[in-house]
Amino acid sequence: MSKKNLFGLTLAELEEEFAPLPKFRAKQIAAHIYKRGVKNFDDMNDLPKNLRAEFSTRYEIKIADVLKRLDSRDGLTKKFLLSLSDGAAVEIVLMKHDYGNSVCISSQVGCQMGCKFCASTLKGLERNLTAAEMLGEIFFAEEFLRAQGRKLDSVVIMGTGEPLMNYDALIKMLRLLHEDYCLDMSYRKITISTCGVVPAIKKLRDEKIPVTLSISLHAPDDKLRSALMPINSAFGLKSLLAAGDDYAQVTGRRVTYEYILLGGINDTEEHARQLAKILGGQLANVNLIPFNPVVERTFSPPTNAAVKKFFHFLNSHGIGATVRKEMGADVNAACGQLRAKL
Ligand code: SF4
Repeated sequence: MSKKNLFGLTLAELEEEFAPLPKFRAKQIAAHIYKRGVKNFDDMNDLPKNLRAEFSTRYEIKIADVLKRLDSRDGLTKKFLLSLSDGAAVEIVLMKHDYGNSVCISSQVGCQMGCKFCASTLKGLERNLTAAEMLGEIFFAEEFLRAQGRKLDSVVIMGTGEPLMNYDALIKMLRLLHEDYCLDMSYRKITISTCGVVPAIKKLRDEKIPVTLSISLHAPDDKLRSALMPINSAFGLKSLLAAGDDYAQVTGRRVTYEYILLGGINDTEEHARQLAKILGGQLANVNLIPFNPVVERTFSPPTNAAVKKFFHFLNSHGIGATVRKEMGADVNAACGQLRAKL
């Protein structure tokens, strides 16, 4: 008989699982799993021996196994390929910034959204990740850092997949991550990236979990955006910007608009002018991402001069903009380069 995996269960689910045992047993086990990283029931010293033996035959505590690891030359970025219980694999990227350590996790195996500059969508969507699998990606990073005397400071859900297309599992995972018996992570340290699933942005606005929302914009007009991102044909710029503005107003959280600069496609001063116009008055900032090459894609990176000009135009026209520091491009761990293969 296969053992049931307890990792990823909430306290209420553990209580239900262990009924009619007293509820404090579930609390003890949750602390072992989430606070101490215990994987073996024999190490749960505060449980009676007979219970440890019984649980060992019925349950397991398992997160992902590492299939492969790549380290960037500067040592700041590490990419891991993790295997899931059904043999599927996902990538996570661990980054060391001046302000702490962050992990970028995946929300799906593959992606169906078809953005034209992205490697993650080349083979379409294989499946959604479960809440436990997403939490497992984060715990893997947390345990890796803890073993080195470091800690995980923030989580970015910006790897493979569109998180808002895996909505229920995403919300369950976020709530669990925030619980004090789990990692007790502040919602303010979590960023969700979306390509613009407008109805789900509206739903997220009302969840009372004030995570940072990062919207992949990449073009300042509908024609270009629809050519780069098929989602735009379903939810055009007007409705997307209104949903972003609304999210910022309701949650009080500044929305980040991601803008990949593709050489000769969306990186001229005219594009910057249009972008400043459509974002004017929003509680928002823009993160410019010079394109990272993907073998199967024909786009080119922008010139340094074009990046500088775009950046200065936005900042001098009232739109706070930053240029994303490129991390991990030498191990294909940069934005748009993730796939389930190292
Ligand atoms: S950019 Fe995000 S939403 Fe678009 S195809 Fe890639 S993983 Fe999917």
